[in-house]
Amino acid sequence: MRRIITINSNQVSKSIETKKLLTEKLINMGFEVSYDFHPDTELVISIGGDGSFLKTIHDFDFPEVPVVGINTGHLGFFPEISPDNIDKFIDTYLKKDYFIQDISLVQASVCTNKHCFDMFAINEVVIKGDKSRTIHINLKVNDKHIQNFCGDGMLVSTPTGSTAYNYAAGGSIVDPSLNLMQLTPLHPINTNAYRSFTSSIIFSNDSIIKITPEYRFEDSILVVIDGVEHRYSQISYIKIFVSDVKIKLLRMADHEFWSRVSEKFL
Ligand code: NAP
Repeated sequence: MRRIITINSNQVSKSIETKKLLTEKLINMGFEVSYDFHPDTELVISIGGDGSFLKTIHDFDFPEVPVVGINTGHLGFFPEISPDNIDKFIDTYLKKDYFIQDISLVQASVCTNKHCFDMFAINEVVIKGDKSRTIHINLKVNDKHIQNFCGDGMLVSTPTGSTAYNYAAGGSIVDPSLNLMQLTPLHPINTNAYRSFTSSIIFSNDSIIKITPEYRFEDSILVVIDGVEHRYSQISYIKIFVSDVKIKLLRMADHEFWSRVSEKFL
């Protein structure tokens, strides 16, 4: 039976070296290796840092097969394999000494006066003002009005993304076994003129956040999905919710979230 593994790497020289070495080792073990997403692939390996890991999953359109990362990047919170441990990783993979972690994504449905566009985020959806403008938006949850918010923006993060932009913006780190969304404000304005919430809000996985730009601001909203900017004209509203689309992360048997948080952040 053919066993195919897809490898995706960034262009950093350490990643390219690692890709070459990994390819040789996998071929020696009887695997076929593809550098484009192969429909019969059983595993995707991303080589790089967290940024490359996110890009691999987006470029491959949220594959249904497990994804694992080899860290040649800076922080490497997602990719847990070190390039020095490739042999150990292959051995572990063959022995099935791993577990699969299902990760729920957040979905943003951006509706303009003409169409709706669906996008999926592994870390977060950020709503910001274009050209550094303040955003003025109406925030509803499950059709209930919460606030007319003003500030730099707000982000909605997954538990997996809680250690990324969300954490830098003062949000909480969330255990990935919880299924929820975290809404974190970015520099909210609190004056006599405007009242905007100042701490993160946690929503259950069946909540629907609805953001409507106030009149005059419908062309000045930027939607940033896992660090990639998207611009739309005449945005009517944006709905953000926990998606049915999931990805599968392959984790080594000894992977433990809080030890990694302690090692990387605290
Ligand atoms: P990037 O340079 O690819 O990433 C910025 C930093 O965030 C890098 O150190 C990256 O790790 C780390 N990172 C990414 N996902 C993470 C996660 N789930 N947990 C912990 N750290 C994580 O930046 P980008 O291309 O603009 O956007 C990619 C992501 O970066 C976004 O989804 C956003 O979460 C984050 N970001 C953070 C800030 C901030 O903290 N102020 C601002 C913009 C974006 P590596 O070094 O391993 O790549």
